[in-house]
Amino acid sequence: MTESIAARITLPAEAAASALRRHLAFYEIECEEIAGGLRATVWGGTLRLLWGDGGVRVIAEAPDMTMLFALQEGVAHALDHEGGTAIWEQVTEGALAPNLSLVRVESVTQISPGYRRIRVVGDVERFEANGLHFRVLIPPDGIAPEWPRLDANGRARWPEGAAELHRPAFTTRALGDGWLDFDVFLHEGARTTEWSKTAVGKTVGLIGPGGGWLIEDSWVALFGDETALPAIARMLAGLPREAQGCAYLKVAECDMQDLAHPPGVRLARTDDLLSALLRTEAPTGPRRFWFAAEKSEATRARELMKAKGLAKTEMVAAGYWSRD
Ligand SMILES: Cc1cc2nc3c(=O)[nH]c(=O)nc-3n(C[C@H](O)[C@H](O)[C@H](O)COP(=O)(O)OP(=O)(O)OC[C@H]3O[C@@H](n4cnc5c(N)ncnc54)[C@H](O)[C@@H]3O)c2cc1C
Repeated sequence: MTESIAARITLPAEAAASALRRHLAFYEIECEEIAGGLRATVWGGTLRLLWGDGGVRVIAEAPDMTMLFALQEGVAHALDHEGGTAIWEQVTEGALAPNLSLVRVESVTQISPGYRRIRVVGDVERFEANGLHFRVLIPPDGIAPEWPRLDANGRARWPEGAAELHRPAFTTRALGDGWLDFDVFLHEGARTTEWSKTAVGKTVGLIGPGGGWLIEDSWVALFGDETALPAIARMLAGLPREAQGCAYLKVAECDMQDLAHPPGVRLARTDDLLSALLRTEAPTGPRRFWFAAEKSEATRARELMKAKGLAKTEMVAAGYWSRD
């Protein structure tokens, strides 16, 4: 099924077109010229910017409401830079953001010294596809939680001040009928670690899904620290059976999980992801390098991958957290 929504744009055609082009170029998405406008294919959906007698309009189409809302937010963000607004039709002012699920924490399990597994229950079906990741919205203690809601123009308005939500990113580790598990790497003083101690029975928001997805390449090299263990676990389990390559994890031995993986993908623990990356030779032919760890390490990893001659489409280097 395709969901669609249209908006009137409060900018002249030229300014709206350049704002949209610039925004999409950031994600390396191209716009094509069509009669009376522009068209772009974005994350499995489409955006059409049209101008003519009826003024400037945008029409967004996507396979589901979550993706549709992501497109709407993208358009709104693009227009912000030019001082414009998209006035969407069919907006229910005050409704919860369409990519938000309010879920209840059913259990918190210490699965190893360094990790707690959180099981949430509720409307989580859409986290099965279109992204491995989501943001957990953790309300401050001691006050009634406030959630992102739509304003009259269809934009999510986030609670501010004392009601501000903590919103760290996590990875769907497993999903079943009405439940979703994610694994939290515990670290001293971190807000999610603290929250997890008393989380059972509490309500949190999940925003998403988003971010990367499983990889299907026949040769892979995966590198990740403790925070990337859940993503690498999912990617290894989703690889084709005949895949070849390696996966390096910077994880203490006591926290290592039993990871399903193709026999041709070698698993190893390391204390130094960047050295492991440096040592890994890129084969010719199909290949995919994927790295996720602390932000400055990810920046260095990107440089090392470029130096190996990898194209942008053959590599990912993601900062999963940043050292203060
Ligand atoms: C796409 C994506 C997916 C992710 N998936 C997961 C996941 O499945 N499991 C998971 O545990 N994490 C995951 N992370 C990382 C997680 O979002 C961050 O570690 C985040 O900071 C955790 O929030 P917090 O409330 O624990 O810490 P905060 O309260 O936000 O941070 C407190 C302090 O801890 C420091 N800090 C944050 N992370 C670490 C760390 N790993 N080691 C040491 N110090 C740290 C910060 O610098 C800060 O000083 C993911 C990140 C991204 C971008």
